Amino acid sequence: MPYHWQSTNIKQSGVDDMVLLPKIQEAAIVDNLKKRYMDDWIFTYIGPVLISVNPFKQMSYFTDKEIEIYQGTAQYENPPHVYALADNMFRNMLIERERQCVIISGESGAGKTVEAKYIMHFLAKVSGGGPRVQHIKDIILESNPLLEAFGNAKTMRNNNSSRFGKYVEIEFSTGGEPVGGKVSNFLLEKSRVVSQNSNERNFHIFYQLIAGVDGQLRENLGLTSPDYYYYLNQSGSYVVDGVNDKADYQETLKAMGVMEITDEGQMSVLQIAAGILHLGNISFVEHGNYASVENTDYLDFPAFLLGVSPQDVQTKLTSRIMDSKWGGKTETINVTLNVEQAAYTRDALAKALYSRLFDYLVGTVNKALQEKGTDLAIGILDIYGFEIFQKNGFEQFCINYVNEKLQQIFIELTLKAEQEEYVQEGIKWTAIDYFNNKIVCELIESKVPPGIMCILDDVCATMHAVSEGADETLMQKLCGAVGSHQHYQDVSGGFIIHHYAGKVSYDGDGFCERNRDVLFNDLVLLMQSSENPFICSLFPENVNQQTRGRPSTASNKIKTQANKLVETLMKCTPHYIRCIKPNETKKANDWEESRYAIVTVRHGPKWRGEPRQGIAHIMQSVSMDSDQYQLGKTKVFIKAPESLFLLEETRDRK
Ligand code: ATP
Ligand code: MG
Repeated sequence: MPYHWQSTNIKQSGVDDMVLLPKIQEAAIVDNLKKRYMDDWIFTYIGPVLISVNPFKQMSYFTDKEIEIYQGTAQYENPPHVYALADNMFRNMLIERERQCVIISGESGAGKTVEAKYIMHFLAKVSGGGPRVQHIKDIILESNPLLEAFGNAKTMRNNNSSRFGKYVEIEFSTGGEPVGGKVSNFLLEKSRVVSQNSNERNFHIFYQLIAGVDGQLRENLGLTSPDYYYYLNQSGSYVVDGVNDKADYQETLKAMGVMEITDEGQMSVLQIAAGILHLGNISFVEHGNYASVENTDYLDFPAFLLGVSPQDVQTKLTSRIMDSKWGGKTETINVTLNVEQAAYTRDALAKALYSRLFDYLVGTVNKALQEKGTDLAIGILDIYGFEIFQKNGFEQFCINYVNEKLQQIFIELTLKAEQEEYVQEGIKWTAIDYFNNKIVCELIESKVPPGIMCILDDVCATMHAVSEGADETLMQKLCGAVGSHQHYQDVSGGFIIHHYAGKVSYDGDGFCERNRDVLFNDLVLLMQSSENPFICSLFPENVNQQTRGRPSTASNKIKTQANKLVETLMKCTPHYIRCIKPNETKKANDWEESRYAIVTVRHGPKWRGEPRQGIAHIMQSVSMDSDQYQLGKTKVFIKAPESLFLLEETRDRK
């Protein structure tokens, strides 16, 4: 039964669906969104896509009452809502017997994770079931606080920013009861464990531990205040508005319980997290060109928590056993490290421990969910969007590659299908002029002819130790192999890729090393020597066994993951949510009019020149081609929605 919105405070304003606008132009779209947002209505359709503008306050229309209203009603009967989309997926799945997925996109802080959680909540509410089904629902819902504790952090843009991507699949019985599922995680930002920008924090779990653990355990874990730990005190940010670390710690413990992690297992998880904090406090001093531990007292706690000997920690952080080839013979030699290398080794160990712990936690969710391989499923993709920073490295390269693949799906699934339908139906139409980004995907991932990732792997395999010069060799090889590609541009020290969302300049520095992503055998052996079997189990590799063929690289892993994701999504009927962040202040009812001005690098937010020149300057600085926009008398008209998104995304990076 349609809901009588008049009985609430919600004033419907503007139009529900942008296709109802008299002229579908960017300016009118933005006006409509603003009008609705100011009237406290965050959802609007643009054809098949649901747009959601982050309200930065709790809206009144997410209660059980709305869940009831949206359940089983047609889209047009009620105002646009994420519940309408969720209901549509659920019913489509049951009626058409088809798998469904929703791709949630948008810049950091735009509301992707919040919308994803509303969808899970809706599905849990409307699907029936007994105790076993309730247990599956609990696992799905509780996986959120668990993975957020270990995978989210306060950043400049978002107090609860997801530093990993995830795809959650919920499997249903033919009767529509959740019976299992699977969580896939992508690209955890593990560098955050060892350093953060100022005003950002490390992952929430560390602060939760410090705020939440008391009594004997607090002493056992050596917990004091956050400023005591080097891995937390570099950024000077400890507390977050609206985050209660103490209460969240209890929630994390509860969630671990729901995942059936034993008390002993939970203790090991906490020990590793605390162990990482203490590891960070080991510092080094120069001792005749070599590193030595500044204060050996600081070795005891991390060693104790990780179940290894302090002496071994000291040895493994300040020296490394290496293979050396002498006259056809391979000998092992013990190389002493300098201060920089020792700190690097310490950080490598902390990052490896943390990322393996995170994978373990995702694994516990999956173990509890027990994927059934049912025909019916709903997948929810919450992954970070296209990134353009001032300096872009290997991480941005991987993230943008995944986004390029997602754009490819969007093209494959929607635009193509639409046009084919027109042809089939004999309807006259003007071709939608879209850019098929397949060519960019191939530039990055193709095997024959070799694309960027392939060449990168080649260089990593042939230049054994990532000696200085590997990145330079890579740039030379890239130039030779893909230099003439129309979407590739060679620049000093790196390269530019013309992505679907804009040109991004990548700094080649560190590409080879990050791609290799190997943990030195010494560190693996150190962890395998732990008295704690849980820690040993995180390092199952056999260091003595020569891996056949090439060892797997980071780009290889993300390529495999991205292609698997594409394969999964292609089997689904897709739905889309585009989240929009209306301001930088994180405040409610604040709509920034001229937020795009800050994208210009040289002149900063205030432009004092002639307005038309200013606009041209902004467009030029985000590399928007002049045929992509036109200047009206008072407004700028931008051709493709992607172009607007490019502005949004570029603005976000400044
Ligand atoms: P990131 O890419 O950094 O993970 P995100 O797109 O997932 O960002 P969210 O974490 O979902 O962003 O949202 C950021 C914050 O904005 C939330 O913590 C919440 O305070 C607020 N917010 C987002 N959506 C809503 C909503 N629908 N209602 C109320 N507040 C919201
Ligand atoms: Mg998020």
